[in-house]
Amino acid sequence: MDVSSVRSLFPQLQESVYGKPLVYLDNAATSLRPLSVVREWDEMSLKHNSNLHRAVHKTAVDATERYEAARAAVASFIGSASPKEIVFTSGTTQSINLVAACLENAGFFSEGDEILIAESEHHSDIVPWQLVSGRKSLKIKILPVKQKGEIEIDKLPALLTSKTKICCVAQVSNVLGVINPIKEICEICHANGTLVLVDGAQGIAHLTTDVRELGCDFYAFSGHKMFAAPGVGVLYGRQPLLESLPPYMGGGEMIESVSWEKTTFAPVPGRFEAGTQNISGVPTLVPAIELCKRLKTSEIEKEQAAIKNYILDAFAEDADITLYGNPAEREKKIPLFSISVKGAHHEDLALILDKMGIATRSGQMCAEPLMDRFGVTGMLRASFVPYNTLDEAKYFVECLKKAIKMLK
Ligand code: PLP
Repeated sequence: MDVSSVRSLFPQLQESVYGKPLVYLDNAATSLRPLSVVREWDEMSLKHNSNLHRAVHKTAVDATERYEAARAAVASFIGSASPKEIVFTSGTTQSINLVAACLENAGFFSEGDEILIAESEHHSDIVPWQLVSGRKSLKIKILPVKQKGEIEIDKLPALLTSKTKICCVAQVSNVLGVINPIKEICEICHANGTLVLVDGAQGIAHLTTDVRELGCDFYAFSGHKMFAAPGVGVLYGRQPLLESLPPYMGGGEMIESVSWEKTTFAPVPGRFEAGTQNISGVPTLVPAIELCKRLKTSEIEKEQAAIKNYILDAFAEDADITLYGNPAEREKKIPLFSISVKGAHHEDLALILDKMGIATRSGQMCAEPLMDRFGVTGMLRASFVPYNTLDEAKYFVECLKKAIKMLK
């Protein structure tokens, strides 16, 4: 696979905006969808639409088999020991809320316990913990990031106490693009008896993830950021941990037996999947995973590295541009670039770039505490995936410079 063959798989790349070819650099928010994913959705909707796990008729069995095949594919893709460790959710947000609520309901937290959260986290990995903290009188502690965006791992041991119950950290920050040292974080936390939840929303499409190698207890991600359908997410949890947790929601199919006196619950992972699940969406994870695997070629890696180096060099040369997430070792960053520009508002830049056909993200990027940390009200972000080309990166930098000139 080279970049042009990857591009041919994504029909939306043929679209134009304001008469210009679409240059889609908002992949960290939602990636585009390949034909294989659209076809899977269509096939599920047109041929195999039926409820899951319930009926004995052929169509229901087919739908269920495809849903469960997706679970097996996810388990194998992320190196999980068993499909029983894979819970389907609506996305990263629901996955994290599920863990927070279940730990709370399991009596895992006592008053005064601590939750450690990386300073660079997305709101999805902050607010669910604040909600639990409010109800249980817990203390939230912050694992800081350095000026260049790396986590201050040296400070981690001192931040952990006998009360630190869980540490929540992204594999890759959605603002900084920095790859965090998850394995090391897990080792340090586990030595203290602290669980680790990893938000894999940005890592899943860019890195090769092996949850057992990382050593994390929970790993969450969303389908729509890795070329699958929206409304589909995954929560990985170590099996004994999942088995120790009570259900998240009550409803159909998450039970073993129901009576007015007593209800017992299904084994994992069904216990956490109450009600009718995403029949058409979940199976799209299979072609999305297939594609992610096929994208790991040296040609594509070369192009991604060329994009990264080109943009990092271009930004380093421009005194008006501040790049957030600029680790000394470039291999520790994915091709995701968040900047602020002296004298130009991020929203104005994004609007001008849009008129040039370039889709970027502007604003707080659901990471307001990190914006405060860097003393900005927002940033402009361009995020690349393997269908983006070096030529697009060059066009982006050229247009950005034009936009800055217009605003000065
Ligand atoms: N975590 C990170 C790091 C993200 O980038 C995002 C989305 O941007 C989320 C969590 C939330 O993902 P979703 O909205 O798919 O639940």
